[in-house]
Amino acid sequence: MEKTKTQNKELTSEEQKAEINFKTDWQYAASPESTDHIQLKKKYDLFINGKFVAPAKPKYFDSINPSTEEKIAEVAEADEADVNKAVKAARDAYKGKWSKISASERAKYMFRIARIIQEKARELAVIETMDGGKPIRESRDIDIPLAAAHFFYYAGWADKLNYAVPGKTPKPLGVAGQIIPWNFPLLMAAWKIAPALATGNTVVLKPAETTSLTALKLAEIIQEADLPPGVVNIVTGAGKTGSLIVNHPGVDKIAFTGSTDIGKLIQKSLAGTHKKYTLELGGKAANIIFEDASIDQAVEGIVNGIFFNQGHVCCAGSRLFVQESVFEIVMRKLKDRIATLVVGNPLDKNTDIGAINSKAQLDKISEYHSIGLKEGAECYQPACEVPSKGYWFRPTVFWNVSQASRIVQEEIFGPVLTVQTFRTIQEVVEKANNTPYGLSGGIWTDKGSKIFKVSGELKAGVVWANTFNKFDPTSPFGGYKESGIGREGGLHGLMPYLQY
Ligand code: NAP
Ligand code: MG
Repeated sequence: MEKTKTQNKELTSEEQKAEINFKTDWQYAASPESTDHIQLKKKYDLFINGKFVAPAKPKYFDSINPSTEEKIAEVAEADEADVNKAVKAARDAYKGKWSKISASERAKYMFRIARIIQEKARELAVIETMDGGKPIRESRDIDIPLAAAHFFYYAGWADKLNYAVPGKTPKPLGVAGQIIPWNFPLLMAAWKIAPALATGNTVVLKPAETTSLTALKLAEIIQEADLPPGVVNIVTGAGKTGSLIVNHPGVDKIAFTGSTDIGKLIQKSLAGTHKKYTLELGGKAANIIFEDASIDQAVEGIVNGIFFNQGHVCCAGSRLFVQESVFEIVMRKLKDRIATLVVGNPLDKNTDIGAINSKAQLDKISEYHSIGLKEGAECYQPACEVPSKGYWFRPTVFWNVSQASRIVQEEIFGPVLTVQTFRTIQEVVEKANNTPYGLSGGIWTDKGSKIFKVSGELKAGVVWANTFNKFDPTSPFGGYKESGIGREGGLHGLMPYLQY
């Protein structure tokens, strides 16, 4: 791959040379995953009532590969008539078939979908990486296995719902409208569709505009699994398509994952309607390192917490808090580790940091980088080169930042970490909780008692201890404050799809 652009402004030329020498001395041989086994159509229609159908107005948009800027496929844009058709198909399927078959029969379809996802895992991982820009290691080891795991897990619940809500008779709501973002495309589709099907609801799902392809591959899997037509409908399009689903009177529940701004809009438009809703929104997680932590392990956790998936993670550990006495050593080890990260071709199995998902997201991250510099923070970026085509941002660390600084308060959704110091538990808890968000957090310490104390005081839906960014279908996930309403995952994830 051609490598020309370097963005480094902060290192001296001597330091840059030393780092480049270090990297060229120790480079891995290229190890790209092959793409010859994947099957993609040139053009994708909407998946409604079990079939791929052309949109009412012949409008299509391009899905591109953000690491090459090349077009991968054309995807249909659903308009009002298409959303109406999809909601009607979902309603008919709910009344005609899905609410009538036994729960164990529903589970059979779901187990089948899970197994086909496993069979096609390699193909799905490659498409996820091509369409979204994330490293193949992540799509192969995290996104796709977890997507299958969600179908397996929720299939197990389908005939045990009476135990989920003891003493009650839980019933489905009807049609669920589901809208998902671009950071974990297939996994988010699984998070949404699996609990809806297990509880006997039918679905109209809209994937994000930049990453529709694995949702459309899932539509093919759903066809192959012989799911009754109309039980799952997938309508692609932009924000307008999402808003048509949200405001459709025939939808009984909205499950939305995305930004806090759009979440607020959706909440306003749902006020006063009969619709139930869950909102999984933004985050600005605190990752807290105490002086008694295992520093090497913690540094790996920081790197995983913020640079994993280019920082395109709602629960990313984007604010690091380091106890003052270990600040120097943590910073030195962190910079050393960041200097070895491989940024580049997402299909290469050695790549740590892939492409930024879109030009718009790259512009947003670059703007926050400039804001951080203008605010007077100190900044470190490794001297790595990035490909000349595509959307790239090198891992970035800011320190000497103030609590009020915009890069500390606002969600950047990119590989940008801010570092602050603290002396006492009380101080760090106050600082950590001082944002509008409350999705996740992390604690690194050798003391169990400190873990219990701090995790109890952090206003965050998930707190990891001596690890970060670990997900499991059995575990509920969701936010405090402006990070959202309701929980997805685990037993809790069934409740928003049931009346009882
Ligand atoms: P976004 O702009 O809010 O978009 C999310 C989804 O909503 C996309 O499918 C989008 O379509 C659609 N949409 C846009 N405008 C809409 C409207 N007016 N009505 C209904 N739907 C609309 O968010 P994003 O930039 O894709 O994703 C990043 C955000 O998601 C971050 O803030 C991140 O923290 C959050 N996130 C949260 C979680 C969680 O579990 N809490 C998980 C992942 C991501 P288009 O694609 O066409 O814009
Ligand atoms: Mg794309």
